[in-house]
Amino acid sequence: MPQSQANVIIIGANFAGLNTAKHLDAKEYVVTVIDSQTHFEWLPHIHELISRHKKAEQLRHNRQQLVERMGHTFVHNTVIAIDKTAQSVVTEKS
Ligand SMILES: Cc1cc2nc3c(=O)[nH]c(=O)nc-3n(C[C@H](O)[C@H](O)[C@H](O)COP(=O)(O)OP(=O)(O)OC[C@H]3O[C@@H](n4cnc5c(N)ncnc54)[C@H](O)[C@@H]3O)c2cc1C
Repeated sequence: MPQSQANVIIIGANFAGLNTAKHLDAKEYVVTVIDSQTHFEWLPHIHELISRHKKAEQLRHNRQQLVERMGHTFVHNTVIAIDKTAQSVVTEKS
């Protein structure tokens, strides 16, 4: 177990961002996932929506719940800049 946890910021909580977050152990990393949209839409099952087998809300998942289930933090915001020197991001809403 490391002495201090590394901070990781993931911008975007779609397939790439959520999959990355899922593979980062909350015991090793302090992970913050940022997305400008509150919900993730499960597009691979869009045929179920088109065929009316499921309703839209059944394919829409709350990002905060998904990320918190992984042991990480979700922030609903839009990233407008990345400050490499400060190793931080600037968001639309402070
Ligand atoms: C019908 C369909 C089914 C698919 N099924 C799969 C699948 O099963 N598995 C898979 O891996 N891929 C799947 N894909 C592909 C996938 O949707 C993406 O094309 C690809 O995986 C890239 O995803 P991404 O998460 O990198 O980017 P994107 O899908 O483009 O997501 C970017 C995310 O970042 C957020 N964002 C963007 N800019 C900002 C900002 N400035 N600040 C904060 N948030 C921001 C957006 O709101 C969005 O949630 C599918 C695509 C389609 C169309």
